[in-house]
Amino acid sequence: MKKLFIVANWKSNKLLADIDFYTTSFKEESSVDKEVIICPPFTLLSALRTLIDEKKLLYKLGAQDISPYEAGAYTGEVNGKQIKEFCDYVIIGHSERRTNFGEGDEMLKKKVKQALLSGLTPIYCIQDENTFVPEGVSLIAYEPVSAIGTGNPDTPENAEKVATAVMSKNPHIRFVLYGGSVTSENIASFVHLEHISGVLVGGASLDHDKLAVLIKAAS
Ligand code: PEP
Repeated sequence: MKKLFIVANWKSNKLLADIDFYTTSFKEESSVDKEVIICPPFTLLSALRTLIDEKKLLYKLGAQDISPYEAGAYTGEVNGKQIKEFCDYVIIGHSERRTNFGEGDEMLKKKVKQALLSGLTPIYCIQDENTFVPEGVSLIAYEPVSAIGTGNPDTPENAEKVATAVMSKNPHIRFVLYGGSVTSENIASFVHLEHISGVLVGGASLDHDKLAVLIKAAS
């Protein structure tokens, strides 16, 4: 059975009070062959780290962004070493950062470099098979912009086609995930594809019960 990655991107959502729920009625659905990576906003990383450690959960944590610089005079930035205190992963190159914050290839290359220097695994988002992928990236998420938050996912056939093309162009890539309007109803059609090793989920990851159903449906 192949290992699956299920990445939950909470984007700029949730407050500390929402985490209380996870400390009371929480039931973990991840397992050794399903790596569930929760990517909350920075403000919730510490609380979730404590919860995961105390309850000995299998969940992994990821950040949604990283500074392109090391520690120093970079007001507002969170650097790789700071993120590594809580996380194993970091999302880089999400289309919302490219569009809303003007992040381009040069900036993203620096972010990948900082992630790797800090021992973090980048989850590098590409929008199509022609998106530039920096050296050292081994895990990517194919996320067509038209599918993000629209309820209009790509077809599994096209996702497989893009994943195959990207892997043959970039031999250092080991895993390709699919992202864009993934739900518990369509997740199986993506994770059963030969070259797709999991999913990146936005909207459907926000509700704990829905996320649990989605993780189960990935089998
Ligand atoms: C995303 O956050 O990258 C994403 C794919 O969102 P959604 O699942 O809501 O389409």
